Amino acid sequence: MTRLNPIYEAMEPTIFEYMSGLAIAHDAINLGQGFPDEAQSPDMIEAAARALREKSNQYPPAFGLPELRDAIGRFYKRRQGLRIARDQVVVTSGATEALAASILALVRPGDEVILFQPAYDSYAPMIRRAGGMPVSVHLSPPDWGYDAAALDRAMTPRTRLILLNDPLNPAGKVASGTELALIAAACRRNDLVAICDEVWEDVRFDGVPHRSLWSMPGMEERTVKIGSAGKIFGLTGWKTGWLCASPDLARTIGRAHQFLTFTTPPALQWAVAEGLDRADSWFAPQRAAWAASRERLARGLTDAGFAVLPSAATWFLCIDLAASGIAIDDRSFSERAVREAGVASIPVSALFEGEGPRHIVRLCFAKDAAILDEAVERLARFRDGLTAEGADGAGLR
Ligand code: PMP
Ligand code: GLN
Repeated sequence: MTRLNPIYEAMEPTIFEYMSGLAIAHDAINLGQGFPDEAQSPDMIEAAARALREKSNQYPPAFGLPELRDAIGRFYKRRQGLRIARDQVVVTSGATEALAASILALVRPGDEVILFQPAYDSYAPMIRRAGGMPVSVHLSPPDWGYDAAALDRAMTPRTRLILLNDPLNPAGKVASGTELALIAAACRRNDLVAICDEVWEDVRFDGVPHRSLWSMPGMEERTVKIGSAGKIFGLTGWKTGWLCASPDLARTIGRAHQFLTFTTPPALQWAVAEGLDRADSWFAPQRAAWAASRERLARGLTDAGFAVLPSAATWFLCIDLAASGIAIDDRSFSERAVREAGVASIPVSALFEGEGPRHIVRLCFAKDAAILDEAVERLARFRDGLTAEGADGAGLR
C-alpha cells in the first residue's frame, strides 16, 4: 500500500536543479539555471544588512510590510502607468509561491486552465494538485506567436483561467499589443481570470516599457499580476515576490498564501521596498550590463556557427540546433555538452508536456564576459566535434 501522493511520487527534480547538479558534478560553466554571476548590487546587500540590524526580525504581517506593498504600487505607477493600491498587493516568498497561492485559491476541482507551452515548470503540477486540468496551447519557434484560433479551440465550458508568462521564459519573447489584445478578448468573452506571470517585466532589452495584460480594457478586475524582486534586482536567492489583483481576489489568494509560507523575511522586504523606490537611473547600468552580455553571447555563438534565436527579454538566449547543423536532440545536446564540453544548458523540450520542439536549447547570458567567452569557445569545439561525428554518420540525422 502506498502512502504517497502519486503526483509527487512520479515527479522528477526540476530541469534547473538537475542541470545545476550536473554542472557541479562536471565542474562545468553553468549557463543552465537562470541566475546572474555578475557582481551583485552593494546597495541592495547593504539595505538588507541594515534592515537585519536595525528593524524587527519577527513575523511581519502576512500580506507583507505595508511599506513594501506601497512601494510595489509606486513602482508599477512609475514604470507601467498602473494604479495599484496597498490592498491589491500580497507579498510572497518568490513568484513561485505567488503562482502556487493563486492557483490553489482560484482553481476548483474540474476546472480547466489554459497555459501556453513552453511553460514554467511549476504551472501544470500546481494546477493538477489543485484538482484542475492544464490545457496546453503550443507556441512555436522562432517567433513563439500567440494565435487567436488556437486559443479559441482550447476553450471549453469548463475553462476558468488562463496562465500567461510575459515576457516568456525560455523564449525571451514579449507579447505584442495585438497579442495582448487577443488574449484579453478571450478572457472577457469566456469570463476567465488571467494569472499573469510577469517576473521578467523589468528585464527587457527592446527599449519598450513593459505593457501588462492588466492594462488592457476590462482586465484590471480579472488579472492576477505576479512579480519577483529576484529578477528585477538579479538576486534570485532572495525569493521575494508578490501578486497584485483586485482587492477581493487579493484577499482570497492571500488566504492560500497564509498557509503556504504565511510571510517572507522582513529584512528582504525592507531592502526590496527601498530598491523599488530607486530612480530609473539606478537600474540603468545593470540593464546595460545584461544587454551587453546578451550581445556578447549572441555574437560569439553566431560567429561559432550557431543559429541564435531573437530574445527581447529575460536572461536567456535560445539556439536552434537543427539550424546550427547539429542533428542530436536538445536533451542529448544538454546531457553531452555538460559532460563533454563543460557547459550546462537547458533543453527547451523539458518545458513542454507532450510533443514539442526538440531542437532548441536555452543558455543564460547573465555572466561575466570571461565566462561567456570561455563557454563560447567550449561550445564551438563541441559543435565542431558533433559535426565531425556527423560526417562519420554517427551524430547527424
Ligand atoms: N516564473 C518564471 C517564468 C520564472 O522564470 C521564474 C524564475 N526563473 C519564476 C516564476 C520564479 O520566480 P521566483 O524565483 O521569484 O520564485
Ligand atoms: N526560473 C529559473 C530559470 O528559468 C529557475 C528557477 C528554479 O530553479 N526553480 O532558470
